[in-house]
Amino acid sequence: MIYLDHNATTPPAPAVVAAMLPVLSSLWANSSSQHGPGQEARRALGAARSAVARVLGCKPVEVVFTSGATEANHMAVRGLLAAAAPERRRVVFSRIEHAGHLRLARALAESGVQVDFIPVLADGTLDLPAAAALIGPDVALVSLMAANNETGALMPVAEAAALAQAAGARLHVDATQFIGKQPFVFSTCGADAVSLSAHKFNGPKGVGALLLRQGTPFTAQTLGSQERGRRGGTENLAGIVGLAAALELLGDVSVEAARLAALRDALENGLIHALPATHIWCRSVPRLPGTSYLRFGQLSVDVVLQRLERLGVAASSGAACSSGGSEPSHVLTAMGVPADEALAAVRLSLGRTTTAEDVASLLALLPPLLEPLLQEEMLIAP
Ligand code: PLP
Repeated sequence: MIYLDHNATTPPAPAVVAAMLPVLSSLWANSSSQHGPGQEARRALGAARSAVARVLGCKPVEVVFTSGATEANHMAVRGLLAAAAPERRRVVFSRIEHAGHLRLARALAESGVQVDFIPVLADGTLDLPAAAALIGPDVALVSLMAANNETGALMPVAEAAALAQAAGARLHVDATQFIGKQPFVFSTCGADAVSLSAHKFNGPKGVGALLLRQGTPFTAQTLGSQERGRRGGTENLAGIVGLAAALELLGDVSVEAARLAALRDALENGLIHALPATHIWCRSVPRLPGTSYLRFGQLSVDVVLQRLERLGVAASSGAACSSGGSEPSHVLTAMGVPADEALAAVRLSLGRTTTAEDVASLLALLPPLLEPLLQEEMLIAP
């Protein structure tokens, strides 16, 4: 199989699995227990917390372990909003946040919170003047992703931090797609809270963290004594050890970023050369090195994914599945892309296990399968 869906999830690194197995089999005691095995589990938890802090440039007390990014995103927004001054009741999101996060935005709006959305430009970047106009003294927090999971476009976190700071608002950053792919240091990133998820950087699924700047007013959403009262519930120690191991394996992410960008560029250039009807979104803006979001003319994404499947290639569509069928991606819609083009969107996302041979095979095998379909499409087009 050629796996080109790394933005959905990544395979756990063998060293991550090796680090987790002894925890699952032997370190199973509750880290809140006072007995010897409990203390041993607590020491492992502390060591993992210190490792996470070391790699991500924060203090160990600023790491709150969660079940992943969705939970971290929810607790950041609800927790920062609940702790904000009473005159700050507005929350600002971008229009292109992750689907789960936009559901939270809708739920907040339905419960009476004033919610505003920063638009994006046609090139997929954030409309900063619009952001500046929306972020005022009644805003409790701004919630913005660092990199978009569909297009890979990078968001202007430093500029958003300056706007939030000037307005006295908090900034939460969903760095789920960013951490592990781009250099990241919490202490200098300008955000008050940052979400991450282990399964996006070759760690296990179902574990993540919220980095919460020390001293930031925050109201816990899940009550309990764990995580210094900020997130109740017995910690997933094996997952947390796996998360820490995955972060420690990253090394200098710029080296892998350069390798992936070269592979991604070779893939895109090869596809455009063989199939000139290929259109690639966000190619001209800073984006994640391994993400390619494209369409082949207006070939339906289902047809393209079927051909890819036949070749043993796992990729994904940009469409959201609903009970009545597929809906165009909210990200492309926010960029002003017409529905028929958005419904043709295919996302190829490369990662640590992607090789030059994978790219060469795809370039050799896919164009001959799509070429006749594109010819047909041109003949029937009005
Ligand atoms: N935020 C972004 C930008 C994502 O890409 C994802 C996963 O696709 C999530 C949040 C949700 O992460 P998790 O699966 O850890 O809940």
